[in-house]
Amino acid sequence: MHEILDSKLFDAFARTSSNTFVYVSDMKTNLTRWSASAVEYFDLEGEYIYDVNIKWVSLVHPDDRQMYSDDLMAVFTGKSEYHNCQYRVMNRYSEYVWVECRGAIIKDENGEPMLFAGTLTRIDHQSKYDSLTHLLTGYELFRKPFDDNGTLLLVGIDNFRNINSQYGLVYGNKVLLNLTEILVANAQDATVYRFRGDEFVVYGKNKTTEQMIQLFVQVYNICSDPNIEKNIVGFSLSAGIVEFNEGNNDSTDILGKAELSIAHAKELKQLHYAVYSEEIEAKHNRKNKVLEALAKSIKNDFKGFRLVFQPILSNEGDTVVACESLLRWDAGDPEIGNCYPDEFIPLLEGSGGIIDVGYFVMREAIRHAAKWQKVYKRFNVTFNVSYLQLEDANFVPAIIETLEKYNVDASCITVELTESEFAKDAIMVKNSFEQLKKHGVLIALDDFGTGNSSFWTLHKIDIDIVKLDQTFIRGLDKSENEIDLAIIESVCLMCDRIGCRTVAEGVENTEIKGKLGEFKFTGLQGYLFSRPVEECDFEKFMDDYSMKL
Ligand code: C2E
Ligand code: CA
Ligand code: CA
Repeated sequence: MHEILDSKLFDAFARTSSNTFVYVSDMKTNLTRWSASAVEYFDLEGEYIYDVNIKWVSLVHPDDRQMYSDDLMAVFTGKSEYHNCQYRVMNRYSEYVWVECRGAIIKDENGEPMLFAGTLTRIDHQSKYDSLTHLLTGYELFRKPFDDNGTLLLVGIDNFRNINSQYGLVYGNKVLLNLTEILVANAQDATVYRFRGDEFVVYGKNKTTEQMIQLFVQVYNICSDPNIEKNIVGFSLSAGIVEFNEGNNDSTDILGKAELSIAHAKELKQLHYAVYSEEIEAKHNRKNKVLEALAKSIKNDFKGFRLVFQPILSNEGDTVVACESLLRWDAGDPEIGNCYPDEFIPLLEGSGGIIDVGYFVMREAIRHAAKWQKVYKRFNVTFNVSYLQLEDANFVPAIIETLEKYNVDASCITVELTESEFAKDAIMVKNSFEQLKKHGVLIALDDFGTGNSSFWTLHKIDIDIVKLDQTFIRGLDKSENEIDLAIIESVCLMCDRIGCRTVAEGVENTEIKGKLGEFKFTGLQGYLFSRPVEECDFEKFMDDYSMKL
């Protein structure tokens, strides 16, 4: 037996392999040593086996045996330098798994074959067929360039993670199988792949974009209806569509474009599908550029970030009772130009940058509150927080610490969180807010009426201020606003009953203000009084309202 089979080197390789098994054959004695993990997984007789190939061939899937033997023979006859082939082989559980087998001959000093050594890697996670749906896997899509003409449709289930967590994995699998069936039934001669997770690809050789849109719309309509027979509630889909052709058929490139398009479709919300375009690519590039610039600003001691302030007036409109701090950012890069919170806040949230920036906002808001509490009577500074910031256990203690540092009365501070975020982990939010309330900080429920948890949140969490969303207010100067008026009336009545203050956002003109007069809002906020302005302009505004002691 060649010493290498028994060496510490082989032991080390054998022990460090899990999905990759190693083997070395002494070609003179035909004795092979396998790693213990391979012995276990393929139920071999032992680590050392003579003439292992006879046994091994019997484990290889009958359909793959010829290919396997041919490849091996090419190495032994010197036609090929390496053994490298993928085939199915039976494991100890009598399941065929995909493996990639690689091996090479090592010759002795006389040029005679001495050892045959190699690895066997399980590639069932990237195997040809998906074990749940039996569709071809995404891995297969990447294996070669696409055809010279066709269209690819990438389909994903919206909020599949929620489906899984709400109804369980078994139900989630049922949904995947249901979608598989519908896709296959409608794909005609196109091929359906399970790309990954909840994403499927329909590969339409010689198909046009229009044909693939039509296919998607058909599938979408079927899926959105409940399937009573299969006991599945309706679900919604999104899709990205990309044409490929002779000069543009690199699989990785096309799939990348499909992913950009599906992400775009999810943002669009109304249409549910997006056809790849340069505009989508440009949007993606801008997003990356902005993300990079945001990260630089954060690293650079928040350079470019600042707060602006928008007054909140009493219902009579004659007293400024509070101001909302709103974040602004100047990238300092002409290529980026103007970038508003609606663009950069979601990016900060998505990248986790909101945690650091949130500390900056909090410190700045409290610093301004410290200055203004000395000058303005019963004046409150509010600032916005994102859900992610509350998940950070250090955030609430940092607020308390900063209040102490600047010697600010906690009741001069309000923390705003949007309604939809309250619902994510209500217990965590409730605990964070309870700590703040213990110190006297006020809590506001922002954008009230836009999520689907309004009353539930009020019921569960002790809220001080409800900020009714602008959508109910901004249209009041137009006709046909009976419903908005009814909503406003009932929210004000309810808040009055439960001792909650109310703020109307989006008061843009005197007509709207007039309509609101009959309701008992505690505060009014909107362009009529002032847009969000810089610190010095805000102070001028306060002077005009003669708010000084
Ligand atoms: P929001 O908290 O609902 O803030 C109110 C938004 O409405 C502000 O937009 C404000 O400028 C705008 N607004 C005020 N009055 C009127 C009006 O009369 N008419 C109209 N059409 N709009 C009015 P802005 O400053 O662009 O902020 C947008 C959103 O970005 C904010 O909505 C908030 O969700 C988020 N945001 C802003 N600053 C921060 C921050 O420091 N932290 C976090 N987490 N989010 C922030
Ligand atoms: Ca707000
Ligand atoms: Ca709001």
